This record gives sequence, C-alpha cells and structure tokens, in this order.
Amino acid sequence: MLLKNFFIGLSQNQLLNSLAKKYGTRLGAQSVVAGTNMEEMIQSVKELNAQGISATIDNLGEFVSEKKEATEAKEQIIDVIEAIHENNVDAHISLKPTQLGLDIDYNFCFDNLKEIVTKADQYEIFINFDMEDYDHLQPSFDLIDELSKEHNNIGTVIQSYFFESEANIKKYKNYRLRIVKGAYKESENLAYQDKQDIDHNFIQLIEYHLLNGKFTSIATHDHHIINHVKQFVKDNNIAKDKFEFQMLYGFRKDLQLQLANEGYNFCTYVPFGSDWYGYFMRRLAERPQNINLVVRQAFNK
Ligand code: FAD
Repeated sequence: MLLKNFFIGLSQNQLLNSLAKKYGTRLGAQSVVAGTNMEEMIQSVKELNAQGISATIDNLGEFVSEKKEATEAKEQIIDVIEAIHENNVDAHISLKPTQLGLDIDYNFCFDNLKEIVTKADQYEIFINFDMEDYDHLQPSFDLIDELSKEHNNIGTVIQSYFFESEANIKKYKNYRLRIVKGAYKESENLAYQDKQDIDHNFIQLIEYHLLNGKFTSIATHDHHIINHVKQFVKDNNIAKDKFEFQMLYGFRKDLQLQLANEGYNFCTYVPFGSDWYGYFMRRLAERPQNINLVVRQAFNK
C-alpha cells in the first residue's frame, strides 16, 4: 500500500511530468509505451495485428489545464483516426475526457469530443472513453449520454472498485463496455479497498454484462479472472464474438499471444506519445514488481 501511494504520488507530480516529456522515454518506459510518435505507434499496431491482436490506441496526455493543450490533443487524436483509416489497421481509440479539457470547461470538452466522435463515426471507428478518478465519473457519463444521442460508436469503462458500478453497469448495458478493477486511489466511502472485494465485484460485473449487455471487454492481467471467464463463457454458451480480453502493451506478452492463438478476441491497449510519465507511474503503483521491467530496460540500452 505504501509503495502504491508512493507511485500514485509520483504520477501526480507535474514537474517530473514535464521533465519526462523533455527527456523522452528513458527509465524503462519504452517497454510499456509503443513509441513517442505516430510512425512508431502504427508500426507497433501492425506487428500486433500480424499476430491476430487488435489495438486500442491511447494518445497519452496528462495535466491539461489550458485550452491550447486540449485543442492540440484533439487534433492529434483526429490524426490518429486518419492514420488508422489510411493504414487500414485493426484498431480503435481510447481517450480521457480530461485530456480534451474536462477540467477547463464542460462545453469546450464536449465540442472537442464531438469532433472526434463524428470523425471516427465516418470511418466506423469505435471510441472508448477511459474512466479516470471519481471526481470525473459523473461528468464523463454525462458527456457519453449527450454524445450518444447522435452517435453509437461510443463506449466506456466500468471500474469494479466503486460501490456504484453495479448500478452503472445496469444503466449502460446497451453500450460496449470495458470492465476493469480500477487504477486510482479512491476513498473507502466510495470504493472497495480489499483485493478480494474488488475481485468479487469484478467477476459479478463481467458476468452480468456477458449475459445481459452488448460487447464486453475484460481488461485484466489477472490469470485467475481470465480462467474464470473462460469457464463461464463455456458453461453459458456465450459466443466468442460477444467479448474480448484486453491487456496493456508490454505486459504478459506470452499470455496475450496465447489467448489470441486459442481463438479469443484479444485487444492490446497501446499508449504512445511524449506524455508517458503519469501513465507509467500508475502502472508501477498497480504492481511494484513492474519495476523489474524498468531496471531491465535501463541496463539493456
Ligand atoms: P492485478 O490486480 O494488478 O494483478 C492480479 C494478479 O495478476 C497478480 O497478483 C498476478 O498474479 C497477476 N499479474 C498481474 N500483472 C502481471 C504481470 N505483469 N505479470 C505476471 N502476472 C501478473 N483503470 C481505470 O481506472 N480506468 C481505465 O479506463 C482503465 N483502462 C484499462 C485498460 C486496460 C486494457 C487494462 C488492462 C487496464 C485498465 N485499467 C484502467 C487499469 C485497471 O483498472 C487495473 O488497475 C490494472 O489492470 C491492474 O489490475 P489487473 O486486473 O490487471 O490485475
């Protein structure tokens, strides 16, 4: 817990974030970030596709406090949509509403998102709204509610640690949903704190959406959960085209490939760009053993 808090603290440090941007993906981040530019990212996606794996692309961005930064992020995401289309790769977009200006002004953020969603809709590309911390949960759902009046290429994430996720998954069952454990530090008034409780809720939510909902993305590196899902879909005759497994780029690569080879839909979350620092620190917070990746990379340059 102490280490988790330490890395979450580092992920929120803006000075370190700007230094990291300046000095590139050193310190091992290159093992979990698929390049700092579009060419490198598209190359990584092509390599995944060649292994039968699709991609959800995250143009990394943190601490957006000025309209100019949010506008730049919007333009970059539209460029990624164009690149997916031009290169004909099997990929969609993951984005975070704060990156598009949610902390600046709701309507400004809405307009940015609308442009992105409209462009993606033209090419039938799906947009996933990643979920951030609790303060952004309801505003993110509000944006989704409003945008989905005109577009159905939108889905989002349900975080199993929140008590209210059971109600949310029922409300959003007609959406394509990614179900995760939850990556942020949340208060005990709002969220389960124990791994056992989170895992239990995770399984309940996955099973509910598999049985009642639209497409389900089960996003975890936890083989216990994955094995449970494999048995559950078998016992309940749930077709393989109703769900997929997702993992982050660079993690458990053997298991990613194994699941794809077993005939399951598999999608890798592909983060790229110069703003990798906060993303990387959250990964260390989740699993301090990931520090092994860092040390190995630092010595193998
Ligand atoms: P953990 O609870 O970290 O690990 C459980 C067990 O799995 C470990 O004890 C170990 O036995 C095994 N294991 C885990 N990792 C490894 C490894 N690298 N090597 C070997 N064994 C391992 N969170 C959000 O809050 N919002 C989001 O929008 C969001 N999107 C996500 C998208 C994707 C594709 C993924 C994979 C995660 C996302 N997350 C998101 C993060 C998520 O909420 C969890 O914080 C994160 O995935 C860690 O939980 P876990 O389920 O992977 O397993």
